[in-house]
Amino acid sequence: MPAFSLEPSQTARCAELRALAAERLRPLAEKAEPGHVNRPLVAELGRLGLLERLFTAGALDLCLMRESLAHACTEAETALALQGLGAHPVHAHGTPAQRERWLPAVGEGSAVAAFALSEPGAGSDAAALSLRAEPEAATPAGSGADQPVAAPDGPSRWRLTGEKCWISNAPEADFYTVFARTTPGAGARGVTAFLVPADRPGLTGTALDMLSPHPIGALAFDAVPVSADDVLGEVDRGFRVAMGTLNLFRPSVGAFALGMAQAALDATLAHTSRRDAFGGKLRDLQSVAHTVAEMALRTDAARLMVYAAATAYDEGAPDVPKRAAMAKLLATETAQYVVDTAVQLHGARALERGHLLEHLYREVRAPRIYEGASEVQRGIIAKELYADLEVP
Ligand SMILES: Cc1cc2nc3c(=O)[nH]c(=O)nc-3n(C[C@H](O)[C@H](O)[C@H](O)COP(=O)(O)OP(=O)(O)OC[C@H]3O[C@@H](n4cnc5c(N)ncnc54)[C@H](O)[C@@H]3O)c2cc1C
Repeated sequence: MPAFSLEPSQTARCAELRALAAERLRPLAEKAEPGHVNRPLVAELGRLGLLERLFTAGALDLCLMRESLAHACTEAETALALQGLGAHPVHAHGTPAQRERWLPAVGEGSAVAAFALSEPGAGSDAAALSLRAEPEAATPAGSGADQPVAAPDGPSRWRLTGEKCWISNAPEADFYTVFARTTPGAGARGVTAFLVPADRPGLTGTALDMLSPHPIGALAFDAVPVSADDVLGEVDRGFRVAMGTLNLFRPSVGAFALGMAQAALDATLAHTSRRDAFGGKLRDLQSVAHTVAEMALRTDAARLMVYAAATAYDEGAPDVPKRAAMAKLLATETAQYVVDTAVQLHGARALERGHLLEHLYREVRAPRIYEGASEVQRGIIAKELYADLEVP
């Protein structure tokens, strides 16, 4: 495990990405109506080759991309991350036909992906999900039978019925990775991942209006037909698909948070250096200077943990779940502290609609809840610690 410092080429790449985000992506984000999929922005991410890299980059590279984009344009960061979250199950578990149909389009930014796990009754406790995949009654022609005929090796057609909620990119995505219950009462062991194109009959959705401008919505499934060709991975093994995806993306949620924290810190350094107060500048007040030092200290500490967790993932280390949980927890909580403190040091202007910090203050809240709330991360860390313990 490296004691972290980035290679000069990685540092240069991050600077280049921050500049690209400011020059090419932020104008597209500013032009669009908030709360909807911004297709020109997604297409530009594709043209810049960033979406392709979701499938070739390792976890550390993913973190560096997310952190750099977030520093200059949170909307671009989020659009990139959601393409990755929705399409990673296809990349990692898809059949050649599924991969060929969707991954090139995701990579060029012409198809929008989404990851549909959460339900109104199953958020943190995702294994309690209840969207049903019911085997479709197959009636052999001319038999007159009205009983379902089971294929010898299990059903090959299902109907999906139920709801998903708080699904980013819904209802505007082009396809959804949907986690559905194939075996009732089996908890995590009875869930299957399906690739569901948005135009399947019976699939509808509505947009949700959130605190931060995020394309997000609810989905309703009314007997949506799916077949064995739509399964991602294996039947009843979909929870592994979900958790494998989250293990990769968790440290990178931390990286997103770090990009926002760094942007807030940079703004604070500039503001406290300019602002006249009590015969000097704000930075001359020792309590202000120490507060800025604390913001930087905590941001750098969280950054080390995010990079280390991503490197552990890339190296196939055995303690990825613990490290990923620690990184996501520390970085998202740190970013909340840093952005809130930045607002405090800016005073009233930070709360004016349209100010960078007003934007970050709204954006920084959700990552402490999604992809496992902070309390859930603590639960994972504790479980892993006790699993390693040999009690004499
Ligand atoms: C902006 C945004 C985008 C999202 N995008 C997606 C998406 O693309 N796909 C998707 O599937 N979902 C998405 N979600 C949903 C998200 O994953 C859930 O909100 C999250 O899993 C928490 O579930 P919940 O909101 O139902 O809260 P609940 O599960 O009801 O939990 C509420 C609170 O209870 C506490 N709590 C819960 N469990 C524990 C525990 N084990 N120990 C201690 N305390 C606990 C925590 O404080 C938690 O915040 C998104 C959410 C947001 C806000």
